[in-house]
Amino acid sequence: MNFTVVGSTDNPVLHWFVDGVRKTLEREGHVFVPDSGRANGHDGDSPSVGHAGRPEPESPATAEPLGLVLNVVDPERPRPYRRHAQATFVVSFMALDAPPEDGNVIRIGYPILVRSLANLVICVVGRPVQPTPASAPASSGTGVHFVTIEQGHYEVPFDTTGTPAGEQQFFQRVYQRLEPLATSTLIINNEFIPDLPEALWNGDAQTEAIFRAGQRLAAMDLLPTPFPIQEVLSPRDQHHLKMLFGIGGLSYGNISARHDVSSFWMSASGVDKSNLRIVGQDILLVKGFDSARSTILLSVPPHVEPRRVSVDAIEHWMIYTEHPQVGAIVHVHGWIDGVPSTPMNYPCGTVQLARAVAELVRQAPDPAHAIIGLRNHGLTITGSSLDEIFDRIEGRVRRQIPMS
Ligand SMILES: [Zn+2]
Repeated sequence: MNFTVVGSTDNPVLHWFVDGVRKTLEREGHVFVPDSGRANGHDGDSPSVGHAGRPEPESPATAEPLGLVLNVVDPERPRPYRRHAQATFVVSFMALDAPPEDGNVIRIGYPILVRSLANLVICVVGRPVQPTPASAPASSGTGVHFVTIEQGHYEVPFDTTGTPAGEQQFFQRVYQRLEPLATSTLIINNEFIPDLPEALWNGDAQTEAIFRAGQRLAAMDLLPTPFPIQEVLSPRDQHHLKMLFGIGGLSYGNISARHDVSSFWMSASGVDKSNLRIVGQDILLVKGFDSARSTILLSVPPHVEPRRVSVDAIEHWMIYTEHPQVGAIVHVHGWIDGVPSTPMNYPCGTVQLARAVAELVRQAPDPAHAIIGLRNHGLTITGSSLDEIFDRIEGRVRRQIPMS
């Protein structure tokens, strides 16, 4: 993987950290490509001011697209990095001198993630104290905090041995939480085919069930208020997020129901899930997956301007095609204790997340009635129907997701 570093900092701890990540990436065989100065994506100091929306030309110096960008940002003025390719994973690096008083790093890191158009924020909190006696109490929030686009949050504490070997182990732990995310592959391209039979233009019993399920999610208070991105992003940057991640309003969760042996209805991306009515806009018929083009195929009515399907369509596609007895799937940002969970918090919409969830569904005693944890993220639940799923989970889902 090619990677680069953009931005700079006067903060010595952040400087030390970014340098250590860079050296670790190189030691692991990734290739550092110097920031060409073209700007890669930075376009001045006005991240929130709209510009002409023309993409910058691809750098001639880089044959392979960048896999990873380490964007060092000032939390007061986080400059966005605008990728040229969806495959470029952008991590914004920032520093806090001390843990926030309420301990909530997401509250500080998440707006930075959105404003800098990043896939991930890594926030260095405090500084490593060297050397610390082994008997010292565990760190109280100092270390590096990861904040993901799914509002996941986990920490790699500073190594406390103060030795070069300890430092190398610390950076190795950071690398192990970063590399799988940076190399994961989004499957969010949509192709709209205006061939939906007229009898389905106004939906059917399954789209009605999806409407009811959205209302039940709202009643369970499992539709977190969408992050008000329009308050912190220019229209151009909102457009950028939408094109890259298929994120329309950072609304979470999704609902789907089988239509026939090879197709299913699914909620659209970024819509109000308490009011899923219009076919082609609120609810889409997923009729295929073109693996050669990594594209989800959607059958839509000819007269509507379609919206993109939920980014997790690939995950649902894998489950429906493998398990004919699965009739419905619900994904929520909530948790039920004791469920099996994916080992890595791959981002939403990636084939790696889809495979990890599909693997756990496969291992479940009854794949048609499985409850699977997505680490630092939420739950995916299969069932024979949406009503059956809600009857099974109602009263058991808590909003607090364990972070690790
Ligand atoms: Zn999710």
